[in-house]
Amino acid sequence: MTSIETAPAETSAATFTSLNPANGEVVGTHPIHDAAHVQATVASVRKEAERWRALGFDGRKKALAAWRKVIAHRLDELASLMSRENGKPHGDALLEASLAIDHLAWAGSHAEKVLKRRMVSPGLLMVNQAATIEYRPLGVIGVIGPWNYPVFTPMGSIAYALAAGNGVVFKPSEFTPGIGEWLAATFKEAVGHGVFQVVTGYGETGAALTTSGVDKVAFTGSTATGKRVMAAAAATLTPVVIEAGGKDAMIVDADADIAEAVDSALWGACGNAGQTCAGVERVYVHDRVYDTFLEQLVTAAEKVKAEPGGQLGPITMPSQVEIIRRHIDDAIARGGRAVVGGPVPEGARYVQPTVLVDVPEDSAAIQEETFGPTVTVTRVKNMDEAIRLANGTPFALGSTVFAKDKGMEIAEQLRAGMTAINSVISFAGIPTLPFGGVGQSGFGRIHGADGLREFTYPHAIARQRFRPAIELTSFRRTDKAEQQLVKVIKGLYGRGKK
Ligand code: NAD
Repeated sequence: MTSIETAPAETSAATFTSLNPANGEVVGTHPIHDAAHVQATVASVRKEAERWRALGFDGRKKALAAWRKVIAHRLDELASLMSRENGKPHGDALLEASLAIDHLAWAGSHAEKVLKRRMVSPGLLMVNQAATIEYRPLGVIGVIGPWNYPVFTPMGSIAYALAAGNGVVFKPSEFTPGIGEWLAATFKEAVGHGVFQVVTGYGETGAALTTSGVDKVAFTGSTATGKRVMAAAAATLTPVVIEAGGKDAMIVDADADIAEAVDSALWGACGNAGQTCAGVERVYVHDRVYDTFLEQLVTAAEKVKAEPGGQLGPITMPSQVEIIRRHIDDAIARGGRAVVGGPVPEGARYVQPTVLVDVPEDSAAIQEETFGPTVTVTRVKNMDEAIRLANGTPFALGSTVFAKDKGMEIAEQLRAGMTAINSVISFAGIPTLPFGGVGQSGFGRIHGADGLREFTYPHAIARQRFRPAIELTSFRRTDKAEQQLVKVIKGLYGRGKK
């Protein structure tokens, strides 16, 4: 296999090219936007956002529906671009874009229900007040995206932020800038509005967006970059959503449907060539079914090939191959065995499915994000041990459980933002479920009602309906009023045994 350099190359001071990771061909040339351009874009979007906000929930719903229609009509065109720029098979690109459209539809049609002003109870002490909450757009959201799911991932922020009434400036990954531009161009075409714009470039452009004065940054990418974004945003107290890396585990109990668990483990580990933040990187299997599970996994994994036109595409980012290689080599050096696949050949762009067993829990292949089509399989004596080990990394994004009896019981004990029981990564495709992590996987949520609220701030209003019986918030407050208050509080909360 020959080595092809597919890192985006700077072709002049002001442009760079995106390359097809399968063959190194140029897919497109894009501007490297500097801080001044980023700021001008944010200012332009801020202006447009006023008009966007004035459209109201209904107007925005219609506009987003029009965009959704255009994307759906041109799904094949988008999937082809995704295949060329990211390297993923056409079918995988279709699936990714389809799920993104579904989220766009949900965000557009549910924003009003989730965010509009609603009454809440004022409580007994403030019974003279009418209490309402409404969720207002923040203004302009800076969305910084990765390359692995170049449509689905940023759309989790873009669609929800727009539906909530914000403007959006999107900085796609330098590996997939054409896809970002395609999204903005179709939005303009469908909506005729500049409230969603794209800036392109490397990390510096992302850094410029972070400090451009946007009202929130929605970052998806590696944990290391997430920390840099958060540190830079701290200077202006700009809030951030950090959707970072993962090291997701699957747990297989003794009563699980093994054939289904194997199928999901393999797809969860190797789909998108393993470049999935919530992909399965570790599997913990009950002792009683470990041998059967492993035997079936090996048989299934040997049939999946990473090759041009195969079920797995190339590794999108050349530097990632080195990380995958290091994890496999380290696992083997420390007593692990590759029962499928093995060390990655020098210069490889495609990495074959690799199943590792007997890997020590403190090794890189268990503790660090591999982001390749590799999976460790570990025998456990019971589900307590499985849960302890699954929870044993600093990451906590998604998780999977295969079990008939105790699926929910096991899920409840997992430290993770999401869990799929008897399927894999299904939570990401359910628009009503929030998506995001804890610990080193980040914080904040995209998708669902939480994902809409993420791009708003709550405005609480207390409207006095009549003067209170006991006047408390005034210098007119009397001793009698204070005594009455004490009486009420004791009556309400001080009864019963101490
Ligand atoms: P990355 O961190 O290298 O880059 C992400 C984005 O940040 C890119 O657009 C990049 O140009 C930009 N960037 C780089 N330096 C920056 C800086 N200093 N300031 C602002 N922006 C900067 O990540 P990647 O390799 O593109 O993506 C892969 C990672 O993304 C994996 O770790 C994966 O787990 C994670 N990911 C997480 C989720 C999630 O929802 N949790 C989803 C997809 C991917």
